[in-house]
Amino acid sequence: MESDFVGQLIRQLPRDRRLEVPPGDDAAVLRPTPNSRPVITVDLLTEGVDFLLQGHEGTAGFPPAATPAQVGKKAVAVSLSDLAAMAAVPEAVVVAVALPRHGGRVIADELTAGVMAMTDAYGVTLAGGDTNSWDGPLVISVTALGSVAAGHAWRRDRAQTGDLIVVTGPVGGSLLGRHLNVEPRCREAVAIARQFTVHAAIDISDGLALDLSRLTAASDVGGVIDLKAVPVHPDAERLAALQPATGKTPLEHALGDGEDFELLLAMPAAEAIRLVATPPSELVAGSSMRPAIIGEIVAEPGLEGKATDGSKHPLAAKGFDHAFE
Ligand SMILES: [Mg+2]
Repeated sequence: MESDFVGQLIRQLPRDRRLEVPPGDDAAVLRPTPNSRPVITVDLLTEGVDFLLQGHEGTAGFPPAATPAQVGKKAVAVSLSDLAAMAAVPEAVVVAVALPRHGGRVIADELTAGVMAMTDAYGVTLAGGDTNSWDGPLVISVTALGSVAAGHAWRRDRAQTGDLIVVTGPVGGSLLGRHLNVEPRCREAVAIARQFTVHAAIDISDGLALDLSRLTAASDVGGVIDLKAVPVHPDAERLAALQPATGKTPLEHALGDGEDFELLLAMPAAEAIRLVATPPSELVAGSSMRPAIIGEIVAEPGLEGKATDGSKHPLAAKGFDHAFE
């Protein structure tokens, strides 16, 4: 029953001074952060499209199936990653869930545990939600609210010719399991925004090349990726070896696989060089960030890859795109 579940959940929630009216009313009331702008984003994850639930996976065992707790964590993480891409401090989430009628209660409990593990880890308050059940697959949508100083949000349409392109960590092969353990770069983004100049930013949800092409197109510029500089995650090597029939190289996985949730930053050259020379732990204690310069913003629109011999070739903006007509 929805009312039992929601009542129990609300009793579990810690008090949060950011909430003037806590969850349990028709809506929560947040206290605004002084001198800042509210930032809001939403993501929708559907079983069978964005994840496979354990017990419902195909016979191949790949991609790996998720537990409901992992789905809850991931749903929060992807929305927080969008806040990170704006350099916003995450503050609150509201969660809407459509549960399959059969087995929904167990899923709801585990899903909530995953959501709360994430909100605890990122200092975010769970401000409300809605639970429905239906004869369909599990669907979860997380709306995240954050704040950023007025005029200081990172945008994707401000990259400038001559900027260097930084990626905050190795990419590729996340479907081997990292896509279920997303660590959004929220603290890193806020720390970088405080100490460095960033002209434009985007998070890698659908693939490095595709998301970079979104940033360059929005900024009315182009990008040249130095292919040997792209930090290829060991999972990209493993995935390429596991699926030789695809003919994809580890580098192609690094450029095209989505769900890495690292950030792409376009920064003035000196700032990018200073960022990669700064130990990440000086920015955020215990950070797993490993920023690397992977290319340059150029005036000519489009994306190019620069090979080791210096030759440049057009780079397909490949990645994951939800198809609809
Ligand atoms: Mg995004």
